Amino acid sequence: MQAHDDARAALRAWQASKPTDLFTADAFFQAVLQHHLGEAGFEREAPALRAFGTACAGPLDALARETNRDEHLPALRRWGDHGHRTEQVVFHPGYFELGEAVYATGVMSRYASPGHETAQLAFAYQLGQLGEAGHLCPLACTAGLIKILQGCAPPEVAARFLPGLLRTDRNHPEHLHGAQFLTEIQGGSDVGANACVARPAGDGTWRLSGEKWFCSVIDADLYLMTARPEGAPAGTRGLGAFVVPRLRPDGAPNGVFLRRLKYKLGTRSMASAEADFQDAVAYPVVLDGGFKRVVEIVLNTSRLYNAIASCGMLRRVQVEAESYAAHRAAFGRPIAQFPLVQRSLQRLRTQAEAAVAGTFALAALGDRITLGQGSDADRALYRLVVNMNKYWTSFQGTSMCREGIEVLGGNGAIEDFSVIPRLLRDSIVCEQWEGTHNVLCAQVLKDLHKYALHKAFFAHADAVIAAAGAHPQAGPLAQRVALDRARVNALLALPPAEASLAVRDAVDALAVTWQAVCLLELAAAGVQTPSLERLLG
Ligand SMILES: Cc1cc2nc3c(=O)[nH]c(=O)nc-3n(C[C@H](O)[C@H](O)[C@H](O)COP(=O)(O)OP(=O)(O)OC[C@H]3O[C@@H](n4cnc5c(N)ncnc54)[C@H](O)[C@@H]3O)c2cc1C
Repeated sequence: MQAHDDARAALRAWQASKPTDLFTADAFFQAVLQHHLGEAGFEREAPALRAFGTACAGPLDALARETNRDEHLPALRRWGDHGHRTEQVVFHPGYFELGEAVYATGVMSRYASPGHETAQLAFAYQLGQLGEAGHLCPLACTAGLIKILQGCAPPEVAARFLPGLLRTDRNHPEHLHGAQFLTEIQGGSDVGANACVARPAGDGTWRLSGEKWFCSVIDADLYLMTARPEGAPAGTRGLGAFVVPRLRPDGAPNGVFLRRLKYKLGTRSMASAEADFQDAVAYPVVLDGGFKRVVEIVLNTSRLYNAIASCGMLRRVQVEAESYAAHRAAFGRPIAQFPLVQRSLQRLRTQAEAAVAGTFALAALGDRITLGQGSDADRALYRLVVNMNKYWTSFQGTSMCREGIEVLGGNGAIEDFSVIPRLLRDSIVCEQWEGTHNVLCAQVLKDLHKYALHKAFFAHADAVIAAAGAHPQAGPLAQRVALDRARVNALLALPPAEASLAVRDAVDALAVTWQAVCLLELAAAGVQTPSLERLLG
């Protein structure tokens, strides 16, 4: 029938209209990068980013889709052919093909020269648009492991593992990638309740025993694990950080036994397991104050990557919904002409751009700090924003996936019609790991009381507003910042129980203010930022 043929032709036109190069199609992202990397830095990075953006829009997107099909998900093969335990996870071949392309960009190897994470995350952002937690989660874990080895580990431990972690050839036998296991069944947020124990072996190595309840990237070569050295104090204070290779030199499992793979809502092409450790050989990374360093280096890196993943998902939903609305007709006209659909599309674009502005500004701030160019105020700002931004971007990720599904209507709920259902499932996982919303807000409250981090935040906002001069949004933003100031002062005067309740609304407000400040900074530098007015409206 003609009506059916026309509808299918419209869907084909929708598919054909999608970007063939994620980088070139994303003018706002390019402007953000240009701002943070400078003209020369941007020109240096652009060709590789464009090539990766083209691959992401084509073959890598197809691989991500394939490896996320139910029948291609990772599977546990615990026993080898001759009855020996292997604890092996089997993946679809496409998983390795995709991984090879990802690591070949240098996204991890560039950590050999620290302080250039903004450009590295530009690759991760494009990968995030595929809904590709299968490799994005390992990248986050590997990045954190590289940094903690570089920053804290005894030199012989760093020298043993860093070369493999910094390789670009994902499938080479000497390439290494990482995972991080903190959570135990009795608590993920309450890491101080960890019961895994570490005993010195007398030769510089340790033996780890106990159970870890959430072990993502269980196929990783190296696990960064928290465990309590025997006799160490209770709570997070007594935890050490160790590196545990998955295999012993003879290829046998290193005292790790997998109970099962998690049957998960999202991030399904990546294998998460429940694991028992029995005298696993471990190398010490930080014994004294291990958890503090894990939070500062490893979790904060993961929180930044988590936000980048959310940015990627937000951008992808925006593109899917905008292009669909232009091609789908109802009641004789493209649905993009209906004011309520237009409002949804505006929300999607606003949240995607706000997340990119805020998260890449945070990454650039982190680079300045790493390169020794940061002040105490910069460090305070980073500490506050990394937690708020992880919470807010992941929260918006889920909300905007739902908004995108609404734009696609019934088709939006169908797994093989568009990527959005997968993004929705993954974004819900992104909300839970690396710190739940409440836990991050509780951390913010603690930090505001202990370190008065808000002073750095408001000083930065004031400086950006002053530098923006007569920009039309400078005034409205200044009013917003004044309200935030009053809100934070009131929060800090509340009794603890009331403050722990009120902090979440305060963080909601501050997180949006951070994004608005970043957008205003871009606007003052000449970047087109219509999202700023909508965010403040
Ligand atoms: C798919 C997936 C993969 C994961 N992979 C890993 C991994 O590889 N390594 C790893 O270490 N962990 C991993 N995790 C675990 C994740 O980090 C934890 O689930 C998370 O930290 C929360 O811990 P929990 O699940 O024990 O929740 P709980 O700590 O039990 O929290 C339950 C609820 O109570 C709230 N709550 C807790 N404390 C407070 C408080 N002080 N104030 C207010 N509310 C509070 C939380 O916000 C949450 O809503 C993974 C999780 C998922 C879903």
